Amino acid sequence: MSAADGSPVPAGSAPGGAPEQQVQQLLALNQASVAITGELEVESLLQLIVDVARTLVGCRYAALGVLGEDGYIARFPTSGLSPHEQEQIGAPPRGHGLLEVMLRAGRTLRIPDIRLDPRRIGFPPHHPPMTSLLGVPIWIGGRLVGDLYLSDKIGRAEFGEEDEWIVQLLATHAATALTKAQLHAENVEVLARVRRERAGLQALYRVTQAINRAVDLQEVIALVTQAAVDLLDVAGAAVHLLEHPTAPDLPTDSTGAAHFVARYASGLAEPVTTEAAQLPMDRSLAGRAVQTGITQVVQDTAQEPDTVFPVLAGKPLRSLVAVPLVASGQTLGVLSAYADRPDAFDAEAVQLLEAFGAAASTAIHNAELYEEARLGRAAAEREQERLREIEHMKDEFLSTAAHELRTPLTTIRISAGLAHEQMLLQTEVAMPGAGFDPRLVHLVGLVVESSERMQALVNDLLDLTRLEHGRTSLHMESLDLREVVRASVDATRPLFEARDQPLAAHLPEAYCGVRGDRPRLEQVVINLLSNASKYSPPGAPVEVRIVRAGAACCVTVRDHGPGVPPEEREQIFERFYRSSHHRNDRTASTGLGLPIARRIAEMHRGRVGVELAPGGGSIFTLALPFAG
Ligand code: ADP
Repeated sequence: MSAADGSPVPAGSAPGGAPEQQVQQLLALNQASVAITGELEVESLLQLIVDVARTLVGCRYAALGVLGEDGYIARFPTSGLSPHEQEQIGAPPRGHGLLEVMLRAGRTLRIPDIRLDPRRIGFPPHHPPMTSLLGVPIWIGGRLVGDLYLSDKIGRAEFGEEDEWIVQLLATHAATALTKAQLHAENVEVLARVRRERAGLQALYRVTQAINRAVDLQEVIALVTQAAVDLLDVAGAAVHLLEHPTAPDLPTDSTGAAHFVARYASGLAEPVTTEAAQLPMDRSLAGRAVQTGITQVVQDTAQEPDTVFPVLAGKPLRSLVAVPLVASGQTLGVLSAYADRPDAFDAEAVQLLEAFGAAASTAIHNAELYEEARLGRAAAEREQERLREIEHMKDEFLSTAAHELRTPLTTIRISAGLAHEQMLLQTEVAMPGAGFDPRLVHLVGLVVESSERMQALVNDLLDLTRLEHGRTSLHMESLDLREVVRASVDATRPLFEARDQPLAAHLPEAYCGVRGDRPRLEQVVINLLSNASKYSPPGAPVEVRIVRAGAACCVTVRDHGPGVPPEEREQIFERFYRSSHHRNDRTASTGLGLPIARRIAEMHRGRVGVELAPGGGSIFTLALPFAG
């Protein structure tokens, strides 16, 4: 007969014996069952089963042979043997001889005297002598899990049918209790795993947040390595970064061997390095991880000593894991962890480190970008500062040079002017052929002309540097812009007359109020008018107007000259810039008139600009805030 799951069960009614005795036995069995089904720890349960079986049937010894995966006895709890006897017997049996016979039979066996049984192979030395034997199998879900062995029935020569029956019943309860205990053990394990995973994820989350808040690369790497050590509870961790993040084209050194650089390591007795150090790519686990892009694990370095970095050789490292750090499609390096015990990195630990590695990669990548940007910014700022210094030195030099040149230039101009005048006078009154050599007179004339130009240049230069450095103050007053224009027209009229250029001023009837420094504003308009004359052909007309444009009052000067090419319309306001139209002509010029004009306009919260006039020529405009 067999149960639904295929395991043999004790047959129907209890075999012989006094009813009262049977009731006592059943009560004892019931108590034993309650006890064993209440035990959830597998080891304690196995021991309990053996103990209650021995008490229940009244025998000297009991044992439980639990089968392992290989079909042999893996565990062998006993009852009735003193610790000393157990120690003397030594290693538990694996299941040969009679025990094997019983296991392979898969059913209950009673042997009156094992000493006489031909199938026995004998006891190990120091084993107490045993006589009668009862073997009862334990089945769970159609699978034989082990045998209960009882020996040396007390008070009788051998085990009887009623012993067999009661132990078989106990075996079915034991099977139930074992199933329950196994489920319990599995539950405990699952629960522990879930707890571990949750703790791991929480730690991961906290660490990732901390890492993402850090922007300094060294700080990020220190956090990453320390967190890896804490998360996995291991001996050490390191981050190795490639000098040039990329894969699989790895940088090679002069010997042709690929290398990369360890930026930080922590958790080991002493850090591997906190400074960049070259490490061999070919003979390391980290190198393999970079080259394959796949996490590498060595469960026992004793088996694969080559995988340990030379710098780490000799340290108590038994297992290693290396996770490639990848961000934005680039391999940045490797995150490695080291344990001082073998098999420290199971699938769970690897998974955790990979998840952590992904977060760490992003943080490292961001920190690198930040560092690059910071260095770039710092370099740009340094460069700007350098340019400012150079500019300042140049200004200082120009201003000092101009200042120093002014007095000797005045002397040269006045002296040469006087000499030239005298030469001309004497040549006029002298007898023909007795005056100065005309070539000499011409040369002295050139000296006068050039010294005048140089003086104009020096004056403009001094003027501009003073304006730019705020060394000139304006005398602001309310004035009529029409008066400024009229005065400027009067001042420049000789220029226009000399070149036959008709100058027309179109001024409004009404007062054009602005606040400004009259001589300075006249200086600007005079510059625009003289440029209009200078850069227009003889006979070409020039018009000056005053127009209102929104909140501004504008003076416009329109000429019929060559105009200014669009790409040069800003540049002509820079110092010494000459438009490409005039770079090679001989027009007297300092290249400082317009920069001075713009600076003066800006000091009035106004502006000077140029645009192309319809039909050709330029329109220069001085725009000033209208003051009613
Ligand atoms: P300068 O006239 O002494 O050279 P400016 O600063 O006044 O110095 O002018 C700068 C340059 O702008 C001139 O050299 C010239 O090339 C150009 N420019 C100025 N005014 C005009 C104009 N009305 N038409 C064409 N080009 C002009």
